[in-house]
Amino acid sequence: MALLLGAIADDFTGATDLANNLVRAGMRCVQVLGVPDSSVELTDVDAVVVALKSRSIPADDAVAQSLAALAWLQDQGARQTFFKYCSTFDSTEAGNIGPVADALLKRLGSRQTVMVPAFPINGRTVYQGLLFVGDRLLNESGMEHHPLTPMTDADLVRFLGHQTPHPVGLASRTVLSRGAAATRRHLDSLAEQNVRHVICDTLDENDLDVLADAVVDYPLVTGGSGLGQALPDKYRQRGWLQPVAEPGRLAKASGCALVLSGSCSRATLAQVAHFLEHHPGFALDPLSLAEGDKHLSQALAFAREHLASGGPVLIYASADPERVKAAQDTLGVARAGELVEHAMGQLASCLVDEEVGRLVVAGGETSGAVVSALGVQQLRIGGQIDPGVPWTQSPMPGREGLLSLALKSGNFGGEDFFTRAFAVLDEMTAEESCA
Ligand code: ADP
Repeated sequence: MALLLGAIADDFTGATDLANNLVRAGMRCVQVLGVPDSSVELTDVDAVVVALKSRSIPADDAVAQSLAALAWLQDQGARQTFFKYCSTFDSTEAGNIGPVADALLKRLGSRQTVMVPAFPINGRTVYQGLLFVGDRLLNESGMEHHPLTPMTDADLVRFLGHQTPHPVGLASRTVLSRGAAATRRHLDSLAEQNVRHVICDTLDENDLDVLADAVVDYPLVTGGSGLGQALPDKYRQRGWLQPVAEPGRLAKASGCALVLSGSCSRATLAQVAHFLEHHPGFALDPLSLAEGDKHLSQALAFAREHLASGGPVLIYASADPERVKAAQDTLGVARAGELVEHAMGQLASCLVDEEVGRLVVAGGETSGAVVSALGVQQLRIGGQIDPGVPWTQSPMPGREGLLSLALKSGNFGGEDFFTRAFAVLDEMTAEESCA
């Protein structure tokens, strides 16, 4: 069957968030890391999410990368394109949401798109074009202090107006409350007035449902992962998507179980402590890593010893703020981070080459380092462990079999995440023993 949805996400965790929601709504989904240069296995796949790192780069580069992703998705036959950005509309007056949406619309030959950042279940709502985080306006939510994309204006119609030369309109809650057909008529009348971008109010799941119904045949939709959760039902109603019993079904998981944690977020520290009550772990220290290869060799030997019985075993650099500061004061922030990320990449690469087949990584940057050390290019998205964190599986370039991989950004997951993740994987797939 041809690909139904091709998504372009402006960052890695945002891509996973959307892919996870698509699977939960019944689509079989693969996430690819950057625009693939070689062929990707897309059998039994309804949706592909291309993960870019285009949120905070110059607008011209973001446009070029997004157009390359679109060209690739069109080659795969994608019926609808979804430009995914953050539910807090992370961008600056220079872009990149407006310039990328304009370029995609032009390339698709389409006259209009909608902007639906809201994710009501996570407290992101839009009313009269104003974006709220919980009960605060976006510009009073803490996002006004973001280091790269400070959001100082909650009025998305006005804010997007700085990013595009084209008129920006609004589909208000009053319009949505009249249903999908009335909403579509409103969008069409705005299109007659050359309004290319329509900011859409969204207070709840019902509004997302109305919007998804109104725009299901748009060549381009844009927004957060909330809209992604609402669209698959509309595809099914039109007969474009067949019901799938287990869209997050993964192949048999095999191999030993390893956790690599480079996140120092509060949730991760609690997860590390919880894991160590039940399983072995080795603390990586950036100061020792800076002294030479010995410390890394010790970590590797420790992991091998404990993996001999299948694991799980944990290697962690996660440390409380005082220890992190002490390392950073001696080494510098960047060098301390690099040493840890490099070590995590090396450990992953060696141990996956040997017998690790089930790997949990904690930390956004750490995940990036591990995935690139492993040369992972695509992730089949499986079932969810905790909100926003699915198991995935990836073919390993030059290696046999599939690697089961869970990439957890810092603050995600319950306290028992590291132990429960493997139990969830076992439930999801029939597991082979590692011996
Ligand atoms: P999170 O998702 O929690 O933000 P990241 O992996 O994105 O986690 O970021 C954590 C950063 O801190 C990484 O660059 C990592 O290498 C670095 N780091 C991890 N442990 C230490 C430590 N003990 N001292 C200094 N830096 C560390």
